[in-house]
Amino acid sequence: MRRSSDPDVIARYAADESNTFFAENVEAIFFPQSEADLAEILREATASGTPVTVSGGGTGLTGARVATEGGLVVTMELMRHAEPREGFEQVSSVHDGLDYTVMLDAASGHAWCPPAITLDAVEALLAPHLLFPPAPTERSAMIGGAVAENASGARSFMHGPTRAWIEALEIVLPTGDTLHVARGDVLADGRTLRFASREGTPYEVQAPGYAMPATRKNAAGLYAADGMDLIDLFVGSEGILGVITAVLVRLTPRPTLFSDTAFFASEEEAIACADTLREAAANGLPLVSLEFYDPGALRFMADHPQVRPEHQAAIFTELDAGDPAIVERFAEIIIGCDPMDDWFADSDREREAQRDFRHALPENVNTFLRQHGTDKLCTDYAVPAGQFPTMMQAYHDACDAFLQVTGRPEASAVLFGHIGDYHLHIDFLPANAAEEDASMEQYAILAQHAIELGGTITAEHGVGKKTLPVGGRRIPYLEVMYGREGLLEIARAKVGLDPHRVLNRGNMMPASLLDEIR
Ligand SMILES: Cc1cc2nc3c(=O)[nH]c(=O)nc-3n(C[C@H](O)[C@H](O)[C@H](O)COP(=O)(O)OP(=O)(O)OC[C@H]3O[C@@H](n4cnc5c(N)ncnc54)[C@H](O)[C@@H]3O)c2cc1C
Repeated sequence: MRRSSDPDVIARYAADESNTFFAENVEAIFFPQSEADLAEILREATASGTPVTVSGGGTGLTGARVATEGGLVVTMELMRHAEPREGFEQVSSVHDGLDYTVMLDAASGHAWCPPAITLDAVEALLAPHLLFPPAPTERSAMIGGAVAENASGARSFMHGPTRAWIEALEIVLPTGDTLHVARGDVLADGRTLRFASREGTPYEVQAPGYAMPATRKNAAGLYAADGMDLIDLFVGSEGILGVITAVLVRLTPRPTLFSDTAFFASEEEAIACADTLREAAANGLPLVSLEFYDPGALRFMADHPQVRPEHQAAIFTELDAGDPAIVERFAEIIIGCDPMDDWFADSDREREAQRDFRHALPENVNTFLRQHGTDKLCTDYAVPAGQFPTMMQAYHDACDAFLQVTGRPEASAVLFGHIGDYHLHIDFLPANAAEEDASMEQYAILAQHAIELGGTITAEHGVGKKTLPVGGRRIPYLEVMYGREGLLEIARAKVGLDPHRVLNRGNMMPASLLDEIR
């Protein structure tokens, strides 16, 4: 198996897209190509107590793939080919210069994917008839990373997060044992999960006792529910319980998409329109995405030919428009919302233009930050439906307070995102270190609000190694939501599978807390 201790190679895995966490004292990078390779690495690491950190596409925003505890890094990048499976057809293609293979059962709409296939490559391989619906914005993420983070995106409004589409997983446990688990194979007795590895080792894991937030999306901590499925313990586990080597995903027929961006004279009108559309979706309108832009976001895209200075907010939607009657019904609803302008995309070219419009916002934000040499701070909170107006007020208060510091109405903060799921992002735009501190203060206040409202501090990005300033000290991000006892429960579940605490140390909780568990 290939391994490298070349400092230049090690440096390639030293960070992720957060650019906040950096690896230290990494001995070597391993490049496994099979389940057996991984089992060997993990068996030896467990025997010697050497930390191992798993790297996917490196697009994470929380330092989750960053080996802050040193030891070994295992990059999944060579595992791009699914093993042959009975009843499945081999489908291969080259994407961005790399070859990939999935095993497809088109009739039943299922595919076995290798962990290192990127979301973009999956989409290209399944075209033109089938689709893996979770659509996180960053398409170079790998499917193993998407499962580990329970990633989601704009289309989760219709389709839910990654979790909903995972039917089976193959995993190498930290001990080097292997586990092949399909949905329905192992259900918890209360919160106790009992199962055996393929080698016959019995395991008993107690899922945490906390209540999950009543939000449509959540990526905070281990999944926990009475009677839960073992597979759900691993989805969203940020790689702390095992390494995913194969994923069976469920697929849908690819819809004929139609998209629309409606521009409004006020934020209130845009939010009212989102409410109307959400209700229509609940009553059968096949709305795939429902997204929002606030005045700050539109100001940041003021150069775009569709944006006028009078526009104060916008709603972006995607519709499964297979039936013309659906488009008609949708058009009636939008007209009823009385937007100032409506940009209807009924051709591929126009749809592409709307996609570019959506991507222009993060690009403009990144350009601003690059120019000022500052870091983006992006919230990822979601709240239950009934609490959204209160959270919206908290967002406004935070943006106003930050504006007092920056004094830059044209570039201070942008509020946008998945209004359909009551999950908006604020990107604060600090231009110097003092403004970075001020944005972190607002970020922490908003996290407390989200929790008090029964929401989540992370709907899709996960927790990784993030911390939050609370009462003059930095505490583990997840502790804000589940308390220290919640973290200890996660740690106990982990130790049930990882007795020597070697895998992905530092994710979800500090490694020091993990070492407290007896
Ligand atoms: C511009 C941008 C936009 C983004 N938009 C979204 C979005 O819309 N929605 C969203 O959910 N996220 C988004 N993200 C975050 C990121 O893309 C996701 O978290 C993604 O799922 C990470 O996948 P990755 O392969 O890059 O994983 P990495 O960053 O490499 O790793 C993430 C975690 O997964 C673990 N992991 C990776 N592979 C495996 C495996 N095979 N087995 C076990 N554990 C593994 C790692 O150890 C780590 O803990 C965005 C990021 C960027 C930069």
